[in-house]
Amino acid sequence: MQCDLVVIGAGVSGLVAALRAAQGGRRVLVLEKLSEERYVCNSRLTTGVWHCCAMDLLSEPEKLEARIMEVTGNYARLDLARAVATDGVRSVRWMQQAGVRFMKGPFDYQSFVLSPPALTAQGRQWEGRGGDVMLRTLEAELAKLGGRVLRGHRATRLDGNGEAIQGLSGKTAAGASFSVQASAVVIADGGFQANTQLLQGAVTPRPEAIFQRNARTGMGDGLAMARDAGAQITDLRGFYGHVLSADVFDNDKLWPYPYLDYVIGAGLIVDRHGRRFTDEGRGGVAVANAMGAGEDPSGKIVIADSCIWNESGTQRLLSPNPTLVNNGGTLHRANSIAELATLCGLDPSNLVAMIDTYNAALKADRGLELSPPRSAGRQKPVPIETAPFYAIPACAGITYTMGGIAINAAAQALAVDDSPIAGLYAVGCAAGGLEGGEKCGYVGGLVKSSVTGLRAAEHFLQVSEQS
Ligand SMILES: Cc1cc2nc3c(=O)[nH]c(=O)nc-3n(C[C@H](O)[C@H](O)[C@H](O)COP(=O)(O)OP(=O)(O)OC[C@H]3O[C@@H](n4cnc5c(N)ncnc54)[C@H](O)[C@@H]3O)c2cc1C
Repeated sequence: MQCDLVVIGAGVSGLVAALRAAQGGRRVLVLEKLSEERYVCNSRLTTGVWHCCAMDLLSEPEKLEARIMEVTGNYARLDLARAVATDGVRSVRWMQQAGVRFMKGPFDYQSFVLSPPALTAQGRQWEGRGGDVMLRTLEAELAKLGGRVLRGHRATRLDGNGEAIQGLSGKTAAGASFSVQASAVVIADGGFQANTQLLQGAVTPRPEAIFQRNARTGMGDGLAMARDAGAQITDLRGFYGHVLSADVFDNDKLWPYPYLDYVIGAGLIVDRHGRRFTDEGRGGVAVANAMGAGEDPSGKIVIADSCIWNESGTQRLLSPNPTLVNNGGTLHRANSIAELATLCGLDPSNLVAMIDTYNAALKADRGLELSPPRSAGRQKPVPIETAPFYAIPACAGITYTMGGIAINAAAQALAVDDSPIAGLYAVGCAAGGLEGGEKCGYVGGLVKSSVTGLRAAEHFLQVSEQS
């Protein structure tokens, strides 16, 4: 096969890149490894909130850029942070022009949420929801311009002449080999969250103890292909995810929602010995990462009192109170901390002593002196003192990996010496350098995907115009 641009993966980042290049008059081919008409990738399951570090995309770009640097502890490449901060809204407007529909969400940072909204029903009910409609809309627009999505085509190797990437090879679902000659390749395979071997090396010692809160398609093929072609790989540690009920492994109704992040934000989380192990004020994504990175990601328990359960527990759509119990999740309830400890298999006197110390520190405004410290994040920590008390067995859920192929602001893949690799781009969750770092800073998978997809295509158009 021959084309100008070949894209690996038909999620939102790949389709944005493909459609933008097709609008510029290029012949575009998108390879999608799944065979189904409505292949289920993360972009189809998405909740669909276009935001930047939980800030409104309509905020001033300088503020968004500063927030990205703050959230990632200056880990983000400045050029990527600037690209997302300046082009976030532009990428949404461009998608709107392509026919993708957005609506306002219920919270102030949600100016752009895919329509029809996804957060209306429990479980993975994606059919006819925002992500599903978005992918179908983008593919239909691509088809009008002569572009194609070839389903059942898995890319396995990049081909080049040592100086530039010139295409790729792969296998069809039926086992036949194929190759594509092209002026450039865009890797848009969505990350490596479903590859247990890669996860074990980079993210957690026990991948099986982390729940796959995603479409399970991200096997890191793009990462491996790019590495073989000499690309630089970023720090791979962080992932975007949430804290879920531990029952989710046996109960499909408990994901993608409810997540327990807001209960933890006001309350606390302990390990199987009843000890706090991380600063809950750093937010749900950081807590999920701390659970995954520890030696034993299992056996964690979220603790709250009735004030927390009735306020933070109810604040969001599909919040744990009452969705958790309504969908069969475990919620222990007791009139004393000692009784609660017994229900969860924890040592009662240890838990009582720990919570006494914790409460005293919060009341004296000395949470930061605790070990681990207890900071106030977006939510104020609340002493655990009003009966009844609640406990929820919890696990970390991984949605996508934050690290990946190092790119610059034009989404060009970088070689180990930081020079761009001619003819190779990486976009969306295949790309690294924006999110992650020590703080596991989360920016937003969708805004990252639309901005890098758009920028890769626009750079390709520019380069191919010149040559
Ligand atoms: C439940 C859920 C809720 C979310 N909510 C939000 C939200 O509200 N806001 C937000 O910003 N983000 C959210 N996200 C994250 C966001 O949806 C993703 O970051 C984004 O959709 C990723 O797009 P992508 O194109 O990089 O990857 P994907 O959508 O994963 O697409 C990658 C595609 O590549 C294909 N592929 C993989 N390997 C190959 C190969 N070798 N050859 C060919 N094809 C291949 C896969 O099958 C897949 O179809 C959510 C994710 C989930 C799962």
